[in-house]
Amino acid sequence: SQVALGAPLRSEFPILDQEVNGRPLVYLDNAATSQKPRVVLDALSRCYTEYNANVHRGVHALSARATNEYEEARAKVATFINAPSSREVVIVRNATEAINLVANTWGSANIKQGDEIILSVAEHHANLVPWQLLAARTGAVLRHVRLTPDKTQLDMDHFRSLLSPRTRLVSLVHVSNVLGCVLDAAYVAEQARAVGAKLLLDCCQSVPHMPVDVTSLGADWIVASSHKFCGPSGVGFLWGRYELLESMEPWMGGGEMIADVYLDASTYAPPPMRFEAGTPAIAEAIGMGAAAEWLRGLGMDRVHAYEEEIGTYLYERLAAVSPRVSVYGPRPGSCPRGRASLAAFNVAGLHATDVSTLLDMAGVAVRSGHHCAQPLHRELGVPASARASAYIYNTAGEVDVFVEALADTIKFFDDVHSGSAA
Ligand code: PMP
Repeated sequence: SQVALGAPLRSEFPILDQEVNGRPLVYLDNAATSQKPRVVLDALSRCYTEYNANVHRGVHALSARATNEYEEARAKVATFINAPSSREVVIVRNATEAINLVANTWGSANIKQGDEIILSVAEHHANLVPWQLLAARTGAVLRHVRLTPDKTQLDMDHFRSLLSPRTRLVSLVHVSNVLGCVLDAAYVAEQARAVGAKLLLDCCQSVPHMPVDVTSLGADWIVASSHKFCGPSGVGFLWGRYELLESMEPWMGGGEMIADVYLDASTYAPPPMRFEAGTPAIAEAIGMGAAAEWLRGLGMDRVHAYEEEIGTYLYERLAAVSPRVSVYGPRPGSCPRGRASLAAFNVAGLHATDVSTLLDMAGVAVRSGHHCAQPLHRELGVPASARASAYIYNTAGEVDVFVEALADTIKFFDDVHSGSAA
């Protein structure tokens, strides 16, 4: 029997059962970080209460068990994304570190002056700054896919026009954390391959919410952060095709990543260990594995279907609150690959921060700011936005609470401005 999503799932997430500012918590900041189910909390706790030891280093029983659980976690992540082998999964701190790893290994070895890297104006800073640093070091040229004229998604015609024999890398967000648009990854992969470019996909906002199968996605690398898919923070993964990982030099040096060390030189372990210098986030990695296994058990097709439903409801109710509310990104149904269950928005005449502060007083947690996408907000012509983002445990009733609190917020500020709130 399958667990129903939404309300029946909430008992798995103890944190949701609390009041904030005297009102039941409505947690709608899932694009920033998700909450953790009991299976993940238990995995963390079991690690520290039963078998905590360093991994890959000792022959004693605890170390053997810790190593086993850590490697099992890697295998669970591999299964979750349908990677052909767990050797293709590198455990890192987060998606940001994964992108920096690729920029500093493959990028440093393969990107030369005049080579072109295609990014987009909608990237998270994590997929902009590492390439800016690489371009500054190498003299490479960064090109940015712009938005469609209605500014709701990436302009695929513009993307195609940027491709050339100079293109060495395409690195794009799979699902935008602000617009919610889903990239046509298969098309991008085919176009990138046609000019001999590699493709990295930032899957931070797709891996938690939809089936991601690396054997059909067409990317050479994907990156994601555990904390957004029900796992602990401080851990994430880089997936890469094995031959590609094997061709990459190490980035950070130290214990765990070596074969043999001499005083003047060393040889390195094969991937993934080559890229895991030092003691990893052991319990967190094990927690990430538990999260991946749990989500897989729920069924990512079902997760996606549930989120499409609640995401559409969120978008439609939000857009109907007031003509002063602008919701960014495509209308549900108008992005060929779908839309994430998140809605970034602004209310004309109000600051996003004031909006989210008043929502917090009603127990509703949304994020405000530039969501680490400053260039995108410049494209949208605003310095910041508020963002509500739903996940598997959110309910239509919570969307109603949010929308009603937003209507009250707008009324409150109108009253203040007209002087009647005094
Ligand atoms: N890319 C996207 C699309 C994101 O939403 C995020 C997290 N906001 C990141 C990258 C960076 O993730 P992290 O901070 O966990 O490395």
